[in-house]
Amino acid sequence: MSERSRFARELSDLQRDRDLAGRRWIYVPYDQLNDSFGPLASLEPQQAGVLLIEHPGKAARRPYHQQKLALVLANQRHFALEQAARGVAVDYRVAGDGGYAEVVRQAASKLGPLEMQEPAERELREELRPLLGRQLSRVPHAGWLTTPAQFELAAPTGPPYRMDAFYRLVRRELNVLMDRGKPRGGRYSFDSENRKPYRGEPSAPEPPRFSPDPITLEVGDLFERRYSPHPGRLDLTRLPATRADAERQLHWALAGCLPTFGPFEDAMSTASSGLFHTRLSPLINLHRLLPSVVLAQVLAAPISLASQEGFVRQLLGWREFVRHVHRATDGFRKLPAGVAGQPAAPSALGAARRLPPAYWGERSGLACLDHVVKDVWREAYSHHITRLMIVSNLASLLDLSPRELTDWFWIAYVDAYDWVVEPNVLAMGTYAVADLMTTKPYISGAAYIQRMSDYCRDCSFDPKRNCPITSLYWAFLARHEEKLSDNQRMMVPLAALRRRPEARRAHDARLFQIVSDRLAEGQVLTPAELPES
Ligand SMILES: Cc1cc2nc3c(=O)[nH]c(=O)nc-3n(C[C@H](O)[C@H](O)[C@H](O)COP(=O)(O)OP(=O)(O)OC[C@H]3O[C@@H](n4cnc5c(N)ncnc54)[C@H](O)[C@@H]3O)c2cc1C
Ligand code: SF4
Repeated sequence: MSERSRFARELSDLQRDRDLAGRRWIYVPYDQLNDSFGPLASLEPQQAGVLLIEHPGKAARRPYHQQKLALVLANQRHFALEQAARGVAVDYRVAGDGGYAEVVRQAASKLGPLEMQEPAERELREELRPLLGRQLSRVPHAGWLTTPAQFELAAPTGPPYRMDAFYRLVRRELNVLMDRGKPRGGRYSFDSENRKPYRGEPSAPEPPRFSPDPITLEVGDLFERRYSPHPGRLDLTRLPATRADAERQLHWALAGCLPTFGPFEDAMSTASSGLFHTRLSPLINLHRLLPSVVLAQVLAAPISLASQEGFVRQLLGWREFVRHVHRATDGFRKLPAGVAGQPAAPSALGAARRLPPAYWGERSGLACLDHVVKDVWREAYSHHITRLMIVSNLASLLDLSPRELTDWFWIAYVDAYDWVVEPNVLAMGTYAVADLMTTKPYISGAAYIQRMSDYCRDCSFDPKRNCPITSLYWAFLARHEEKLSDNQRMMVPLAALRRRPEARRAHDARLFQIVSDRLAEGQVLTPAELPES
């Protein structure tokens, strides 16, 4: 850490004459930035020391969106200052070529062996594994709401894993939204009530703006110097950096989003990249907000059961579930026999095409894709349904490489870490691991996009007449018919495919080829240049 940086000066001022003797030292990874969980929570500040590591090599490992890198860096620096201010000793170091492991090794030679909560990211777990039992001792990560044992109980015979079974079990075991052993409202899921399209009312809440303090501004300067080639836009006013900022974001979510969360959960709109989604994932994944605290507050909020259950299913259900799947499969390196592809790069349907320039911000002419991609490069965020039914849907329909798409999400989204992005893209978004975690591919033609969004309004294609996405949908089913034919949930669409006239199927296949080739070349699709059916 440069002695001239304001952050380094403030940290050292806060720690002047601090007594380091007799403290228990804890290594706190970049995504465990909270003193209310794990070993740090059980110590008085004067008994505790934390090691924090900034690692420019990790930041350079992938061309991460600037907003994402800045979020991690600004939060880690503020966490360091917050801990120092309350009397915890903070040893803040910058890693060189030896990475996290080398820094921990060096720190342990001065401070003695350190404790650590098991990292959520596989990447970091692997890097630190050689130090376990020597320089590092590891305790379970106390931020998760559920345990591997509960995951195994919900899937006693192993894969395929089903979120629904897991969710019901943990609702019962943790007694969440249960009344005398029965799910509140008589059922576990209110999904069927949460599928309204959005027509502009009520207006979507404007996400909070923050006033960057000198520490955050310094992170901004660092970005201009060091990370300006990274893609995306850096907006410090949209970056919650302090503990107080995180709490403000949570209050905004509770008051502005949660009351309307359920009904519009699946809706997509040009009016807002998030609609009534909470934008809490970046802060939850860094543990600036503890999942247990968010859960408790949502359960206490005066909102409809449909909204409450809708959110609980995401946080207690999906979020925990994907983490268990990632762990159980060693980051998709251990997969059931028969799933094609390389370890951590499965492709059950054999999809392997390169991501076209449209994903990197070039216009495709498909208004839905262009709109969401623009949101992502502006904000490093888009909500769940746009991730699934626009970005991933198009990738599936175009047979794009699931691994390349995963890396794209990892780079582009502010909340992406291996344990969460890999299952969401490889398993949910692209069906790259077949039915390991989901029952069927999540794909759709233009009718769904038109029903659930207003994207088609500004598109040169007509969703009912000439939108290529509908042909891409049929062409996908035709290409993968054999592989999908055993899947019960694909029976209806495959039966519809078989009724589709031969001439239309030939047209679908031709359109797939033309659209794939044009997008690969970075061309903009227009109705005039695509063959009519
Ligand atoms: C293709 C694809 C990629 C995704 N990549 C990521 C990712 O890199 N990081 C990430 O955190 N989420 C990812 N998700 C899950 C989900 O889209 C985001 O968690 C959510 O959009 C975050 O925005 P929010 O906080 O406004 O969500 P809200 O809709 O307000 O949801 C509430 C919370 O539930 C949790 N959650 C909901 N769904 C999931 C899920 N499927 N997996 C994990 N947590 C979930 C998040 O913590 C989220 O904050 C992905 C989903 C898909 C389909
Ligand atoms: S018409 Fe087709 S390409 Fe255009 S926005 Fe609608 S679904 Fe997307």
